Amino acid sequence: MTQDARSMLEGRFARLREGMQADEVDVLLVSPSADYRYLTGLIPPVPTRLTFLVVPAEGDIDLVTPSLEAAGFETHTELQGLITPVPWSDGDDPAAVAADRIRRHGPVRRLAVSDRTWAKHLVPLSDRLSGAQIAPGGALIGAVRAVKDASEIAALDEAASRVSAVSGQLADLNWTGRTEREVAADVAARMRDAGHEEVSFVILASGPHSANPHGMPTDRTIVQGDVVQLDFGGKVGSYSSDIARVVTVGEPTEEVREVYEIVVRAYEAGVAAAQVGASGEMVDAAARSVIADAGYAENFLHRTGHGIGLDEHEEPFIIAGNTQPLVAGNVFSIEPGIYLADRFGARLENIVALEENGPRELSRDSHEIIVVE
Ligand code: ZN
Ligand code: ZN
Ligand code: ZN
Repeated sequence: MTQDARSMLEGRFARLREGMQADEVDVLLVSPSADYRYLTGLIPPVPTRLTFLVVPAEGDIDLVTPSLEAAGFETHTELQGLITPVPWSDGDDPAAVAADRIRRHGPVRRLAVSDRTWAKHLVPLSDRLSGAQIAPGGALIGAVRAVKDASEIAALDEAASRVSAVSGQLADLNWTGRTEREVAADVAARMRDAGHEEVSFVILASGPHSANPHGMPTDRTIVQGDVVQLDFGGKVGSYSSDIARVVTVGEPTEEVREVYEIVVRAYEAGVAAAQVGASGEMVDAAARSVIADAGYAENFLHRTGHGIGLDEHEEPFIIAGNTQPLVAGNVFSIEPGIYLADRFGARLENIVALEENGPRELSRDSHEIIVVE
């Protein structure tokens, strides 16, 4: 197991370094975040104190870390000889410690930094590395994380099956006469019952609120005739879930049915277009054109989807302008929607894993409108 973990991490660093060489990045700094988790297997510490994984294009990898976090590092046998802890203590100048470790591999022309890095750590460090160009490193790490291995796909499949179990139970909840907040709390409880260790978000927007794609639950009372948009996700075994469904309280109107049917067709067109070699832009266009052809181009307010993994939103983005070809191992959402301001909105979202022979949908429950009393 430890040996598996070791070779897995080595493979990740090898792929990362190919990208660093292609981009002429001398050193990459990774702060506590999902990037850090992905590359070390360690739970990221709170980033209050300076913590940087220092990855040179060639040579040894250091972990500049507060000494209180370094305790117990030796118990991670899979990291021995791969990552060297460089502890600093309260009272030291951590930027000086980090600058020394960064420069020991030679002059640094280009330094890439992971996206979720605190300015209070980076600014003093950049003052000590004058002459180095500092670049965002998100795309570099994102490209590596976007290609999931079998164990990650299994984890995402598990997360999807657990969140899908909850959307399959939405009809069992009490809706009428309760507030959005109350029902959203029930959804969160079901998510925990279904095995989520963390509930990251529950969007639940009823009636006219459903026209807001990110409508967070309010004290509005749900009434007969409402369209309710739900979109919820969390973490299962550190990997993210994300699903969106539409509920109507009572039978949907003809117009709601028609709009939803267009969304379903857009969704299916997006899934069908999600093939190895197609780009995120092509998948977005496939879904978007269905909605545009139906006359609702202006009412599809967001990209068609996003990659998912340790983070809820990561590469590859299914969006106009992303011309990168999709590859087997990409896992992403397809989530078209139509939003009619002040009236109602409808979005359908599932996660798909791209395999050599095409997309595989990870959710298990029905995609139909869920009609409740
Ligand atoms: Zn370990
Ligand atoms: Zn979602
Ligand atoms: Zn999503």
